[in-house]
Amino acid sequence: MTTIAFIGLGNMGAPMARNLLKAGHSVKVFDLSDTAMAELVDAGAQSAESLRDLVRDTEVVISMLPAGKHVEQVYLGETGLLADLTDGTLVIDCSTIAPETARRVAAEAIQQGVVFLDAPVSGGVGGAKAGTLTFICGGEVDAFDRAGPVLSGMGKNIFHAGPHGSGQVAKICNNMLLAILMNGTCEALALGEKNGLDPAVLSEIMRQSSGGNWALNVYNPWPNVMEGVPASNDYKGGFLVDLMNKDLGLAFDNADRNKAPIPMGALARNMFLLHAQQGNGQLDFSSIQRLYRGPEKAE
Ligand code: NAD
Repeated sequence: MTTIAFIGLGNMGAPMARNLLKAGHSVKVFDLSDTAMAELVDAGAQSAESLRDLVRDTEVVISMLPAGKHVEQVYLGETGLLADLTDGTLVIDCSTIAPETARRVAAEAIQQGVVFLDAPVSGGVGGAKAGTLTFICGGEVDAFDRAGPVLSGMGKNIFHAGPHGSGQVAKICNNMLLAILMNGTCEALALGEKNGLDPAVLSEIMRQSSGGNWALNVYNPWPNVMEGVPASNDYKGGFLVDLMNKDLGLAFDNADRNKAPIPMGALARNMFLLHAQQGNGQLDFSSIQRLYRGPEKAE
């Protein structure tokens, strides 16, 4: 059993912390929201009054925060947590942030004798609840090995992508590809339907052919082609357009910094920005199907 300090009990963090409790760890939690803390205390966690209180006598700290500025706020500077941690504490940041920010936090962690791992996740809220997340880690191999038994309580696939920041780079690349393939899938389905094809039949043909991809296999964007996906539930739940835009913004900044051409990523990003501007930011990202399909007829 490991004593784990967990920061950030939102849509992702709360179910992740619950799974750590289920895995038999002792978990201490902190969030700015009292309600979020109370729910975890009901599930068996200990609450902390402050970040400083949280990290007293802990060997592992996990954070799941909205964006880079929150991660910097929590860890860096005179008031940051890194200065309060004992030598050798393992810090695992699971938030999706820019690789440069992860490297900055890692550099200060090393100065303080703290071991840092960036470990963004794939799998969404469903994966967080089911304990089937994919963790994509960047950092030293020793840190990765140490994190394994903790991460396996919350996820199924645990990858080491390379040195500090690599987890974030791999996450950005994956989500950019996801945005591109979802756009392409929606475009092909809309073209087929405009020609009178049944989207379910076309989906199956493409799934078994060279156009087969993750969206067609498990996340079909056309309403009522597949059970249990957001497209069959008015695009509610799932992975929000606003979050996809956050990740595509990180990809765009990173490409700019590295002078890497990303024409497909840029186009996919503009499609999602347009979709959000039309009031769809809080829908699942597969709702981009509506942009290609035009006004929906009653299903
Ligand atoms: P969220 O907004 O639901 O939760 C963030 C939590 O952090 C909130 O409870 C907030 O109160 C807390 N918080 C903010 N600042 C804090 C501070 N200084 N101290 C303590 N707590 C603080 O966000 P989420 O959906 O859980 O996402 C978390 C991260 O996971 C993001 O980086 C996101 O990009 C990434 N992610 C999300 C999904 C998803 O489907 N939601 C999927 C993969 C990755």
